[in-house]
Amino acid sequence: MKIQAALAHSNNSPLSIEEIDLVEPGPNDILVKIAATGLCHTDLTVLNNAPLPWPAVLGHEGAGVVEKVGSNVTKVVIGDSVIMTTASCGKCKSCHEGQPSYCLSFREINMSGGYCADGTCSHSQNDKPVFARFLGQSSFATYSLTTERSIIKLDNDLPLDLMAPMGCGIQTGAAAVFNTLQVHAGSSIAIFGAGAVGLSALMAAKIAGCSTIIAVDMVESRLELATELGATHVLNAGNEDVLAKIAELTGGGTDFTVEATGIPAVMTQAIHALGYNGITALVGVAGADAAVTFNPTIVQSKRLEIRGSIMAGANTIPEFFIQKLIGFWRQGLFPFEKLVTFYEFDQINEAIHAAEDGSAIKPILRLPA
Ligand SMILES: [Zn+2]
Ligand SMILES: [Zn+2]
Repeated sequence: MKIQAALAHSNNSPLSIEEIDLVEPGPNDILVKIAATGLCHTDLTVLNNAPLPWPAVLGHEGAGVVEKVGSNVTKVVIGDSVIMTTASCGKCKSCHEGQPSYCLSFREINMSGGYCADGTCSHSQNDKPVFARFLGQSSFATYSLTTERSIIKLDNDLPLDLMAPMGCGIQTGAAAVFNTLQVHAGSSIAIFGAGAVGLSALMAAKIAGCSTIIAVDMVESRLELATELGATHVLNAGNEDVLAKIAELTGGGTDFTVEATGIPAVMTQAIHALGYNGITALVGVAGADAAVTFNPTIVQSKRLEIRGSIMAGANTIPEFFIQKLIGFWRQGLFPFEKLVTFYEFDQINEAIHAAEDGSAIKPILRLPA
């Protein structure tokens, strides 16, 4: 079938919406008509840095309606409202242990560019392969081909466009707090980076009952939003000594920190901002060759812990966790709609620009009906 997709033709180039071909769903595939897709920093990191075989279709926060299902599919039926998250194998140690976000075949499944086992790729243009099935979906397109392990069925009354970023950014921030750090009521937390991931972590910290919630960023408007969402203190890293201030506010350091910028120097701060028995979750995505320095004596003498967290975090199945977050949203406790700016699909380059310059926290693209 013919679909419209926002094609990337090289690193750092604008996307161009073009017609491409998509194969019919195989026995295990699900065809989703995309209603909306979030734009995540990982899309931009890949677009600007990854040595992909071009052209490529990115996008990994898709929401839509099931249009066709393969003969082996039992999880959803035609007409179901769904969102998608990253793919996992279902067979490895991590998948069996109930943490598919850490699937041992993650890279191979999510970054291989399409299933070409029979010699034909799922996506093509003029009979030439198009790199797709990115992170289980390639949602910058009118249709996406996915599988049961990526798909999450939603209640029909939910606003599909708003739910799109649950698949990655919103989930990832909240998961660091609830699942990887397992923060407790009355504890203190500092969150570095008040973008979509950091602010989702902040809303989770408030739900979990953290009594001191410190947001750190360099953009004043984001710090204002952090206050609105429940930060008890905000620090502008551009003009304040962040570590000294956190130590002062918390009597020597926080119980928890979340690092959501991906900047190694900020990761160092997130570790050094901890008090005794403190735990940090490093969530921001740094470059492949990044290295973080920290003072081992501080880590030893304060008995600190450094944990990594991606997607649904430790010991968590994404779809159950996302349903939990939707429950919080329905109660008004997780107002992530305040992070969102909507764009039409053909404004995708504008949305990328707004994400890069920080003027949009979480862009969501609406696809034509
Ligand atoms: Zn993402
Ligand atoms: Zn696996």
